[in-house]
Amino acid sequence: MTLLRTRAAVTPLRCSFDAEILPSVDALIAVERPEEPMHCLRPAAIADAAAGFVAGFPGQTLYAVKCNPEPAVLRAVWDGGVRHFDCASAAEVALVRTMFPEAGIHFMHPVKARGAIRAAWGEHGVRDFVLDSADELAKILAETGVEAGTGAAEGLGLFIRLALPKGTAMHDLSGKFGASPEDAAALLRAARPSAGRLGLCFHVGSQMLDPLAWRQALALAGEVIAAAGVAIEVIDVGGGFPVAYPGIEPPPLGAFFAEIEASFEALALPGAILWAEPGRALVAAGGSVVVQVQARRGQELFVNDGVYGALSDAGAPGFTFPARLIRLDPPPPAAAEQPFVLFGPTCDSADRMAGPFWLPEDVAEGDWIELGQLGAYGACLRTAFNGFDRARLVEVRDRPMLAAPDQPLAQPGLALAA
Ligand SMILES: *Cc1c(COP(=O)(O)O)cnc(C)c1O
Repeated sequence: MTLLRTRAAVTPLRCSFDAEILPSVDALIAVERPEEPMHCLRPAAIADAAAGFVAGFPGQTLYAVKCNPEPAVLRAVWDGGVRHFDCASAAEVALVRTMFPEAGIHFMHPVKARGAIRAAWGEHGVRDFVLDSADELAKILAETGVEAGTGAAEGLGLFIRLALPKGTAMHDLSGKFGASPEDAAALLRAARPSAGRLGLCFHVGSQMLDPLAWRQALALAGEVIAAAGVAIEVIDVGGGFPVAYPGIEPPPLGAFFAEIEASFEALALPGAILWAEPGRALVAAGGSVVVQVQARRGQELFVNDGVYGALSDAGAPGFTFPARLIRLDPPPPAAAEQPFVLFGPTCDSADRMAGPFWLPEDVAEGDWIELGQLGAYGACLRTAFNGFDRARLVEVRDRPMLAAPDQPLAQPGLALAA
């Protein structure tokens, strides 16, 4: 008798990196005419964004791996000059260590499995750990075997995650992690004797459009450090740096860096340095997903990827993504555009993406749509729900959909380095 088993995990993206890299998304669609979602990666755009962040941020840059852990993405971030990685799980730590033996890996999740701490410390050389409670401090010390007074010799870094009041970020992160200012001050004092390096960290929320959010957070951090009365070595200002989406044009990153630098200097913390943990800002523009229209009903399009696939943020979180029609056969698409709502392929009515997605008014079954700015929090959120988990990953060399027209694509050879 044959034992039938259902698949337990989402099907990995099937990579086509070995094939000759085609220059553009349109060329690929013309060759492949794909009926599965096609993930298009632009490593040169990711390397450019990473290099720009590293050059502009007044401190050390850690890439937040959860945002897109695809090896080709990690390689592009590395090629852009990032040498430190913010990991949140044993699997992320192992992946980064396997790819980059020399990388700095920092375990920035405030609630960790004991085995994950042991493996990170003992097998992968991770020295920095985040905590937001006395219980987690005890857990880290027990699993690393570091005793009070030996932290410097052992190289242990302890980072206290400070909770922030609910802010205005498009993706709020204030509800789960972080110690109150009073508790954070107490934790700084409690951790100091065991820490070779002591830090305070926070996250203002993802896709934060207001540079002043960092000024307020740094001011609060300064109050906590003063209340604790201990020296610290690092303030980690987290991620949250925004990118463009349709109708959203954030201030340039330099405005955020200037605000952070000025607010940090105002704290006058001798010997302390800044870290940041960008995710979205490094990788969003470097990825897009091409979906195919399977049915049209009025202003509603049924496409082959949705909120249980790479378009999770287009569902309840309400993100819109730039949309572009790709039609291979005549007639050419209409010039006039209309707003459309998208439905994903699963049978759940929550698999709906309100957009609006602006497309030629005659969009029809069989057309393809490229959805841009999906390098961040796209592919990593895919599930196998309802069996719709097959997708391909390819590299292309054309411009990201929302790239400024005059933005040069530096390092064009990078696309070949997969
Ligand atoms: C998700 C996350 C990040 C990255 O956030 P972005 O908004 O993508 O920049 C950084 N640090 C921590 C602790 C996170 O949880």
